[in-house]
Amino acid sequence: MQHQIWLDIDLRAIAHNCRQVKSLIPDDTSFMAVVKANAYGHGDIQVARTALNNGADCLAVARLQEAISLRQAGIRAPILIFGQTSLEDVPKLAEYDLMQTVYDPDIAYKISKKAVYLGTRIKSHIKIDTGMGRLGLNTLPEDKSSQTYDHTVLESIAKIDSLPGLEIKGMFTHFAQADNPDKSYTLEQLHRFLHFATDLKFREINIPVLHAANSAATIDIPESHLGMVRPGIMLYGLYPSPHQNNTLIDLKPAMAFKTRIIQVKDVPAGFKVSYGSTYTTPAPTRLATLSAGYADGYPRILSSRGCMLIRGCRAPVVGRVCMDQTVIDIGGLQGIQPGEEVTIFGKQGEDLLPVEEIADACSTIHYEIVSSIPGRVPRIYHPHEEQ
Ligand SMILES: *Cc1c(COP(=O)(O)O)cnc(C)c1O
Repeated sequence: MQHQIWLDIDLRAIAHNCRQVKSLIPDDTSFMAVVKANAYGHGDIQVARTALNNGADCLAVARLQEAISLRQAGIRAPILIFGQTSLEDVPKLAEYDLMQTVYDPDIAYKISKKAVYLGTRIKSHIKIDTGMGRLGLNTLPEDKSSQTYDHTVLESIAKIDSLPGLEIKGMFTHFAQADNPDKSYTLEQLHRFLHFATDLKFREINIPVLHAANSAATIDIPESHLGMVRPGIMLYGLYPSPHQNNTLIDLKPAMAFKTRIIQVKDVPAGFKVSYGSTYTTPAPTRLATLSAGYADGYPRILSSRGCMLIRGCRAPVVGRVCMDQTVIDIGGLQGIQPGEEVTIFGKQGEDLLPVEEIADACSTIHYEIVSSIPGRVPRIYHPHEEQ
């Protein structure tokens, strides 16, 4: 079948990026490949296999269903679920041998009770909030000037650690600003985390693995690597942000978003384009209608604003982006026929339209653009076998 829109996914690039992660971390630091949200849109099964073949020790996803589909594809590496799993699904955690994040003593107690009833123990990682302000046992002291943390949290962890239905495999925290060139907030979070871990040790609570580093911290905060790193975005060849020190690694973007021209039209000046007739051609030109729209993950905000690559040239999007179609102006180009390939972002031969540029034009981040491309866009893997 000839696709009218598709994603080219370069698994060699994923393999290369995984080896880059390995080159940054000590041999005794584990590497958890974050493949949540369908591996940031790249395809979780193929990416997971490639990562595991190139240095990753284990995987992480956001939700139970994501973990189950990896297991159903035959992936046997340890998998951590970052988000919540409902109590009724505790048997599935056991059945599929998954690791669950716990961050609340009451929920942990209920999971444990269920596990004991089932005659099993649920492998768990405790999540603590050291300043991200999202998920995790809150360790932040009420008195902001205090250098340490709220000690009642130690009691909660001790309780969770003693639960008979849980097997505590690790403890982690997440950074809010690891990509900030000013690392002080991240180091404060790291120190709070480590201080806390040390105090747990004093109480003879030994947590096997401590982990904190996302991609930005993996790239340029070596002291945050601890027992394990959890990179996501860098596996896909994207730098977390332009702000951290990116000279330490060489990443290769793995995704290219492609579509085809389905109609070419020569039009006069004054020709109105797409819904709302918001664009009028200022001069005679040639327009190409493409098989790509906002239901393919091409944001509507790029109406009369975005551009795409065709034959190495940037062609502007004219008029509104529709659900399944978009129009570009190919005025300067000769001999373009329906069926011709257009690159929405990524590489086209030697030319590149970086996804970061698309994200900037939408006032968002590349994470959102790549992870929002829906399942109706087929992923084509190169090479076809995992690397
Ligand atoms: C998504 C996520 C990561 C990976 O973050 P990147 O910035 O993509 O490297 C790591 N840890 C947690 C808890 C996450 O939710």
